[in-house]
Amino acid sequence: MAFIIEGKKLAEQIRTSLKAEVTGLVAKYGRAPGLAVVQVGEDPASSIYVNSKIKACREAGIESFGYILPDDTSETYLLNLISELNADPLVDGILVQLPLPAHIDEGKITYAIAPEKDADGFHPINVGLLSLGKKALVACTPLGILEMLKASGIELEGKNAVVLGRSNIVGKPVAQLLLKENCTVTITHSRTRDLPKVCSQADILVVAIGRANFVTPDFVNPDQAIIDVGINRNEEGKVVGDVDFKAVEPIVRAISPVPGGVGPMTIAMLLKNTVTSYCRRMDTP
Ligand code: NDP
Repeated sequence: MAFIIEGKKLAEQIRTSLKAEVTGLVAKYGRAPGLAVVQVGEDPASSIYVNSKIKACREAGIESFGYILPDDTSETYLLNLISELNADPLVDGILVQLPLPAHIDEGKITYAIAPEKDADGFHPINVGLLSLGKKALVACTPLGILEMLKASGIELEGKNAVVLGRSNIVGKPVAQLLLKENCTVTITHSRTRDLPKVCSQADILVVAIGRANFVTPDFVNPDQAIIDVGINRNEEGKVVGDVDFKAVEPIVRAISPVPGGVGPMTIAMLLKNTVTSYCRRMDTP
């Protein structure tokens, strides 16, 4: 039986300790950290994410400023709003929920956010700082994955880490974080040859491809720790990960479940990034 890496429980602990930290910060600096959450259009999945982020802020004592804009909002309007939020002293973090409608250039919007308020860690300056191994605001999902591994006592130094998936928001940044922890990192993707063999050699396997139950017993080994990032719906409409949990869990050393794994950690890390950016801004006004 594998050790279950329970992201949900860890996320709750982190949120509780952030709440206490925020109380202390309010007493010290006289105002709460603030996160602006911008959504364009009414995509139901985006609305669920945005609402849960706003709720999580409230519970942690972080002030949230929600901007729910109509689907036909122009790119110029959105850029102007971001520039106002960049200048607003009460806003420490800015998050623009993706995807944006097709007429808005996501890259332009991401670049427009001030790097020091980039709560999602997607700005090229933060991506660059991370790859240089410097202090950066790091994307929330990769940050959450690292916290899960560390909190579970999984040794990283010198270990063989394989990342399955090379997206800019998960695969690449998590590979950078693991490299920083002195793992030997291999990034794999849809053109990788003999994927099961490469993955089965990993001590740590992070899977982020968006394919339900893709990772089967031939990808794993008994000493392996697996973080499953995938969020998919199976034929019955149930949320499942990228790993065939039922088949793999009895074989490996540790594994994170879906749901209840990486997802809740992503939100906890968003709160953490907001508090981090607040503290940095307060220390260097
Ligand atoms: P992307 O679609 O951006 O990237 C998918 C990656 O997986 C690509 O690098 C792609 O390779 C690779 N890939 C796809 N199919 C295969 C395959 N058959 N064999 C090998 N590699 C493959 O995905 P994201 O990183 O944005 O998301 C991945 C999953 O994680 C999704 O299920 C998403 O919902 C989930 N997710 C969960 C989050 C959370 O908070 N829990 C947050 C973010 C994402 P190539 O580059 O060659 O095309």
